Amino acid sequence: MGEVLNNWENGRWIGQTLEVENGVCAVPSKAGIKDLEYNDEVKEATDHLYDEVSDFIPKFEWPAYAPLVHAINTLKKEKNAVILAHNYMTPDIFSLIGDFKGDSLGLAIEATKTKADIIVQAGVHFMAETSKILCPDKTVLIPSMRAGCSLASSITGEDVKLIKQRYPGVPIVTYVNTSADVKAESDICCTSSNAVQVVESLGVDKVIMLPDEFLAKNVANQTDVEVIAWHGRCEVHARFSAQDVRDMRAANPGVVVLAHPECPPEVVEESDFTGSTKAMSDYVGDHKPNNVILLTECSMSDNVAMANPDVDFVRPCNLCPHMKRITLENIHECLRDEVHEVKVPKSMQKKALRAVQRMIDLPPPAEKGHFDPLAAHKPIKVI
Ligand code: SF4
Repeated sequence: MGEVLNNWENGRWIGQTLEVENGVCAVPSKAGIKDLEYNDEVKEATDHLYDEVSDFIPKFEWPAYAPLVHAINTLKKEKNAVILAHNYMTPDIFSLIGDFKGDSLGLAIEATKTKADIIVQAGVHFMAETSKILCPDKTVLIPSMRAGCSLASSITGEDVKLIKQRYPGVPIVTYVNTSADVKAESDICCTSSNAVQVVESLGVDKVIMLPDEFLAKNVANQTDVEVIAWHGRCEVHARFSAQDVRDMRAANPGVVVLAHPECPPEVVEESDFTGSTKAMSDYVGDHKPNNVILLTECSMSDNVAMANPDVDFVRPCNLCPHMKRITLENIHECLRDEVHEVKVPKSMQKKALRAVQRMIDLPPPAEKGHFDPLAAHKPIKVI
């Protein structure tokens, strides 16, 4: 990583190129709220919700949000629909219209328990596919078909078939951040919460872990199992560097640094705690640090901050451009017109379900899925 400041300049975060209008929530466009008014009915139905998001939405902008929030919540009842809101959604979506909130797998598991006919995935495409894999009889919609993922697009099912030819007999452990065709070619899936447990559950000396190179390296540092990695990266977490952490500590003495395991191993080493989005959120709730930094997607800090008003957050802002394609406007359109349905071919769904279900059937991890920052770094093969 060197001594170069990649993402900070004169104490200002410069790592992010995507700007979101008006801070963390982009005010809905006039086109998006056409025909929707902030009238007495909307006021009565929504004004009590404003307090939850008052740190993120200026009061004078509330009349632009409230009609959409009301229209979406009304449509959900009319159509027996639920919205699965990922931790990386902006607070307007996460807090005001999300029925289930959490990480991608937690959301998909919640989806299996709901009696709703329609699932709207407020997240990215692979998450909607995972919901469809687990709930093949429900209609799964995604507000923007352009909401992709740099990890999921780094590998295809055809790539996995070639890997299996090259490494016969070596189990393929696939992160849930992959498309359905990749899951269908895999032996078992994992999340960032249970990746070490999944690798060790197989009882083998060697596994191939797809597609996140940094997650694979971080897992390899925690286990005796040999891990072979693919060269995919999360474009959000890969941006953080060890030097960033040192700079943040220097600028914020005493701050507690929490990192996601999609960050490079050098970042994990510099952090106080590394775990999944749920593990990070639980850490803040359980430990109530005075001052904390979450090295992950920007909106996650906003959403965890809402639940922990007594904790100060330092907020380096790396936005995921894919997650930020989901807005109140396109959620409204998608549900109103029932467009952008996500489908998975039946044979692929069955094969992918086997890999996902094998993971779900494991007992919960003993530890809350966190990574020891002091573990020795091991060189691993990246294919
Ligand atoms: S944050 Fe990273 S892993 Fe998550 S959707 Fe964005 S690019 Fe993919």
